[in-house]
Amino acid sequence: MARRTSRPSRTARPHRHIDAGSPCPCGLPAVYGECCGRFHAGTAAAPTAEALMRSRFSAFAVEDEAYLLRTWHPDTRPSRVDFDPGMRWTALEILDTAEGSAFHSMGTVTFRAHYTHGGQAGDLHEQSRFVRHEGVWVYLDAVFAD
Ligand SMILES: [Zn+2]
Repeated sequence: MARRTSRPSRTARPHRHIDAGSPCPCGLPAVYGECCGRFHAGTAAAPTAEALMRSRFSAFAVEDEAYLLRTWHPDTRPSRVDFDPGMRWTALEILDTAEGSAFHSMGTVTFRAHYTHGGQAGDLHEQSRFVRHEGVWVYLDAVFAD
């Protein structure tokens, strides 16, 4: 990944490296502004658990803390999300989904999220649980993660 050319800003910088015309970090063949960017901006809500999973991965990639917190179930939501400045989320693979459609109130998504950390490639393999809360999909917890 590119080396930093400026000192880290002390203020939050949402949408790091990404603008509306960039390829969406979630990997769907769409630009950010027409894909996960709509959910981050609050102009649309993720219709399925998989769409929410993709939008939360993208939110980690662009460091949109507010979106991550508002799509986290209140029972499991942390008070804040700390972004590691050495971390770059690079790609998301959806491996499996169960339920989580417009007709369900719960769903699981199994995925592999690829990253580089300090220049070293790695990945996170996780099955996440999502529930519908006050009409919209939110992240509940990880069933397993390795
Ligand atoms: Zn997307």
